[in-house]
Amino acid sequence: MKIKFMGAARTVTGSCYILETGSHRFAVDCGMHQGNAEIEKRNWDVAIYEPDDIDFFLITHAHIDHSGLLPRMVQKGFKGKIYTTEPTRDLLKILLLDSAHIQEMEAQWQSKKHLRSGEKYTKPLYTQKDAEATLPMIEAISNGQTFEPLPVVKVNFKDAGHILGASLIELTIEEDRIPIKLVFSGDIGRPAQLLMEDPSVVDDADFLFLESTYGDRNHKDEDDSLNELAEAIAYSYSNKEKVIIPAFAVERTQEMMYSLYLLSKDGRLPPDMPVYLDSPLAIQATEIFRHHTAYLDEETRELIKKGDDPLHLPQLHFTPTTEESIAINNLSGPAIVISASGMADAGRIKHHLRHNIWKEGASIVFVGFQAQGTTGRKIVDGAKKIRLFNDEIAVKARVFTINGFSAHAGQRQILEWLSHFQTRDMQVFLVHGEYSAQQVLAGLIKERFGFKVLIPGYLDETTLEPGRVLKRVEYPEKAVPRIDWDYIMEDIGTRFARLKERRPHLESKPWVEQTELRDRLMELDRVLMEINSEI
Ligand SMILES: [Zn+2]
Ligand SMILES: [Zn+2]
Repeated sequence: MKIKFMGAARTVTGSCYILETGSHRFAVDCGMHQGNAEIEKRNWDVAIYEPDDIDFFLITHAHIDHSGLLPRMVQKGFKGKIYTTEPTRDLLKILLLDSAHIQEMEAQWQSKKHLRSGEKYTKPLYTQKDAEATLPMIEAISNGQTFEPLPVVKVNFKDAGHILGASLIELTIEEDRIPIKLVFSGDIGRPAQLLMEDPSVVDDADFLFLESTYGDRNHKDEDDSLNELAEAIAYSYSNKEKVIIPAFAVERTQEMMYSLYLLSKDGRLPPDMPVYLDSPLAIQATEIFRHHTAYLDEETRELIKKGDDPLHLPQLHFTPTTEESIAINNLSGPAIVISASGMADAGRIKHHLRHNIWKEGASIVFVGFQAQGTTGRKIVDGAKKIRLFNDEIAVKARVFTINGFSAHAGQRQILEWLSHFQTRDMQVFLVHGEYSAQQVLAGLIKERFGFKVLIPGYLDETTLEPGRVLKRVEYPEKAVPRIDWDYIMEDIGTRFARLKERRPHLESKPWVEQTELRDRLMELDRVLMEINSEI
């Protein structure tokens, strides 16, 4: 049997592993590559997946980095089935359509830019039509029910405790009548996470494909996180201002609603402080959570049985329409606004930041990871001013960064989950993590359990046979994207030459504008100096 690592190899996005056994080819996950432009180029190269030759996909969960390339596969000839759990199927309905919409908008924007410089129209990676064609191909499978997509392949989805419907996958493949067991962890949840069950225990595997996002770190306590959230609420309530919470629409938003419910129970959420859930996607996702209570943890199910709904508060308002969203900004007095995107890069949250971030007394509460280069990251890193909709806005609100809400197991929790495995000669492949985090985790796993650990690279191919890894083919030239330095240098050079030509225009501007432009150029100068000193 052969496995090929199509993504999430020494990086966290693009999860997809293609398995070949006999004359069959199938895959676990179909994630979009996200991050910098070099990584994202991989999304356009789906020919190397040979989509028309894939029998079926098994999808661990609805996050786009595990599912987002499905419509592209369908567009390029995939005709098989997509197996996943019921809640994941429902979440995919909204998330794939949303992703297609983003792709279309992005292409439109690129086209405008390109047409101006005489280049040709940019096509989207995929369209809403492609996403719509994908949905009927999804077949829902219940957790814990073994099924056989092929006579030689047995599959079992088990709760991964990560987001609603997220699974780890146990796969038994028979080759020459010998069964080989593979376990794909998907993303493993953080135990004791609100709403979600703890990750299921697995105790045997020949080969384990283990996520390692937090391979080098542990999380803060959830109690601390709730206290910090309460502090933000108390601060802005006493100042009669708003608490703005950028949050991902699926899971983090519902976790925030649950947290507010807990704070309201112990009197730390004032009853006259309205809460707005201002994201159409988050509102739809919340409905899906409510529909699949069987997939929520026991604590939540007990509450619901007693007639209590932790995803509901008396002061909670859904604001699906644009008019309702705009109206929030005209309200005076304290309020809490949960909106997307989680990294404050797109969506309605940008409007809420524009209206509130310059107010002393307001709070901006970050509850998720903020990637380099995003507006969220700039604020978290202490920017005094940020640019929103072409305006420069001062940051005067109090900024809270709460790290305890995570849907991923931390280092200690990954090791705890791993400690249940009884197969001593198990081979572990670390996937879905940055290389530095993976190296730390690999060391700990070898030392503590004695398992063999490999960290595959992008497009690596390995033959699997129980007890030994037969043959490994690497593609280092593809694994590390080549950077086009010529292009970048030339581009910067051209722009600087143009700036020099325009100096008379610069000097004829009002002095306020001149000083602002000077500051921006000095910032650029500082960045160039820093880069020069680093190389
Ligand atoms: Zn995930
Ligand atoms: Zn993931």
